[in-house]
Amino acid sequence: MNIHEFQAKEILRRFGAPVPDGKPAANGPDVEHAFAALGKPIAVVKAQIHAGGRGKAGGVKLVRSAGEARKFAESLLGRPLVTHQTGPEGRVVRRVYIEEASEVERELYLAMVVDRKAAAVSVIASTEGGMEIEEVAARTPERIVSEIIDPLIGVAGYQARKLAFALGLRDKQVGEMGALLAALYRAFNETDASLVEINPLVVTKQGKLLCLDAKMSFDDNGLFRHAEIRELRDPGEEDPAETEAGKHDLSYVHLDGNIGCMVNGAGLAMATMDIVKYYGAEPANFLDVGGGASAEKVAAAFRILLSDQRVRAVLINIFGGIMRCDILARGVVDAAREVDLKLPLVVRMEGTNVDQGKAILREAGIKAIAADNMAEAARLAVAAANG
Ligand code: GDP
Ligand code: MN
Repeated sequence: MNIHEFQAKEILRRFGAPVPDGKPAANGPDVEHAFAALGKPIAVVKAQIHAGGRGKAGGVKLVRSAGEARKFAESLLGRPLVTHQTGPEGRVVRRVYIEEASEVERELYLAMVVDRKAAAVSVIASTEGGMEIEEVAARTPERIVSEIIDPLIGVAGYQARKLAFALGLRDKQVGEMGALLAALYRAFNETDASLVEINPLVVTKQGKLLCLDAKMSFDDNGLFRHAEIRELRDPGEEDPAETEAGKHDLSYVHLDGNIGCMVNGAGLAMATMDIVKYYGAEPANFLDVGGGASAEKVAAAFRILLSDQRVRAVLINIFGGIMRCDILARGVVDAAREVDLKLPLVVRMEGTNVDQGKAILREAGIKAIAADNMAEAARLAVAAANG
């Protein structure tokens, strides 16, 4: 799960990281109040969307009065902001952040991520702040340094110094870097984060380290322990189909293809996606309806699949183990009637109550194309999608 910059900064501030003072606002008058409350001659107004690249896209601006802050905020609010990370349709700005402006001397990059191979958190730092780290990695990989943090020790003093020196920090800044790393690491661990990215981390004209931007992502499997972080979820930033799937406890990931896949079991779902690709098409989604799904859950899954306008054919591939084929068939029949299904539907079922399942589909008059094995099912679905 991702959160907004202003939310990430609130968390980091709580853990003692140096973050500029700021306030979120969702309308013009609140922006004016926020500017006045900061009480600084210059502030920065920043669009709050779950995407980076806002600076280059015109979503970040220095302002010198409450009126100017409001005018710029009103030009952003309620409209999509297109950055190179949003895709061409952009993201609608529903909130801005008004922050005291900082005098920037140097822009650096600092992040923490889970390094799965090392089974630990890795710190990534670079002198190339403000640029995307992927770009730095591709062009000037020698400007990136990283350190694996031993979970039993935390950020060791020598590691903090090594990172600080690599970033060209001196004197008191080295100690500040140690304190910042300790704060970020504690924030990362205690919130079950999967990413903390400070880009840029700046050295101010006054020589202090400051987190000028902040991005945090959290491990969904850890969210049950963090009610206060769950509350930061912004459904407006999420794929509506994925939100709906979450409500029904379905494992669904939206993809770019045109074959809607409904499968039970993550392994079978991945194998199904592979075989769709093998026959020359792309899956529209990953969808695992789970082991003991009810007819209602199957119907919900079916509706979610069909809500994707790109889907040209639906492929159902079910192995009835705990899941019974008759229950699956009833869910499909209910949903197909409800949505007045017009798309070609290919069904491959095997296992418990398979004959009953096939009979239910037949008797309901659903125009399903029956397939006897996975390869045939995929081939038929791809052919149907191609008309
Ligand atoms: P992003 O483009 O979405 O990553 O948004 P950032 O928060 O990183 O802001 C983009 C750029 O705006 C930064 O790299 C800075 O160069 C600039 N910027 C943001 N806040 C300030 C500030 O307080 N003072 C100055 N001088 N520049 C700022
Ligand atoms: Mn940034």
